[in-house]
Amino acid sequence: MNRVYNFSPGPSALPLPVLEKAQKELLDYRGTGISVMEMSHRSPVFQEIVNNAKGLLIELMSIPENYEVLFLQGGASTQFSAVPLNLFTENRKADYAITGSFAKKAAKEAKRYGTIIEAASSADKNFSYIPDIDAMKPSPDSDFFHITTNNTIYGTRYTKLPDTGDVPLVADMSSNILAEVYDISKFGVIYAGAQKNMAPSGLTVVIVRKDLIGKAMDITPTMLDYKTQADQNSLYNTPTTFSIYMAGLVFEWLKDLGGVSAMEKINIEKSDMVYDCIDNSDFYEGTANPKDRSRMNVTFTLPSDELTARFVKEAGQAGLATLKGHRSVGGIRASIYNAMPVEGVKALVEFMKKFELENKSEA
Ligand SMILES: *Cc1c(COP(=O)(O)O)cnc(C)c1O
Repeated sequence: MNRVYNFSPGPSALPLPVLEKAQKELLDYRGTGISVMEMSHRSPVFQEIVNNAKGLLIELMSIPENYEVLFLQGGASTQFSAVPLNLFTENRKADYAITGSFAKKAAKEAKRYGTIIEAASSADKNFSYIPDIDAMKPSPDSDFFHITTNNTIYGTRYTKLPDTGDVPLVADMSSNILAEVYDISKFGVIYAGAQKNMAPSGLTVVIVRKDLIGKAMDITPTMLDYKTQADQNSLYNTPTTFSIYMAGLVFEWLKDLGGVSAMEKINIEKSDMVYDCIDNSDFYEGTANPKDRSRMNVTFTLPSDELTARFVKEAGQAGLATLKGHRSVGGIRASIYNAMPVEGVKALVEFMKKFELENKSEA
């Protein structure tokens, strides 16, 4: 076996101890004689798996009692529709801060059902920064205000939350859920695809304030109505059973590590290592505004496309996989989610320094 350090933006690396535990339990889950994959979602054993995962997430994120945790399918992209369908309760009007491609997609989907106000945008500089957060204010009669807390493609993050008053704040937290401490009571809805920080793809986590449930638009498909899912403990139909099980293992791993605040410290340490390397070089250049830099997705460029291609190739040969940047930014993107060990980031930084020395003359 030869595992590499995987810098994939998603689906992404999972903690090795979690994969090993899943492997151990794969054929015979705790004496049941079957795999979790082969188990009825109505069985008591699986009910326990769901409730355990849910309980751990509530504990890790300190989710207050007036919130419902849903384990759904369809990815964050399905929530681009579900959020407006459930939350367009008064005026069918919402504010969106456009800080990247996913924010743009979310707003475009919501436009099918109501009026969307572009509350802020960083499109003018290819989403390399987060617009002034203090200036983000909901427009009159807005039903909710939507943000993307970490912009996976562009490598930016919100360093604080906008104050939206009584207007529910909705966050796409797909790429930084469980990576830093949030006060959940500041949000109306949080949603995240699991494949970056929580589990294999398939699972979508939605955390929704209970008073926002049960007011969906008439046209809302049954499956997308938060009430359907909340009333049935996310078991209205067959859920993504194996991903929920894996999420539970990841949550246990994170808890053993000291929880989200301990993880946040490690994430600061890891991302600082790469940013320091970038800032101390005139070979690499960060693409995100320094004060808005993501701790999950570090984006930077090299002096030429040829050097970028060589970097990706040689890094791959050195066991550092999937470093090519998204086509809309170019360059390199190192996704260093919770599961990326400090040693992996150290190996990346050492490779960057060596590559710079060897190739500087061509810059
Ligand atoms: C990956 C990602 C998405 C898309 O998630 P899917 O689960 O594939 O639909 C949406 N938003 C953000 C911020 C992401 O990082």
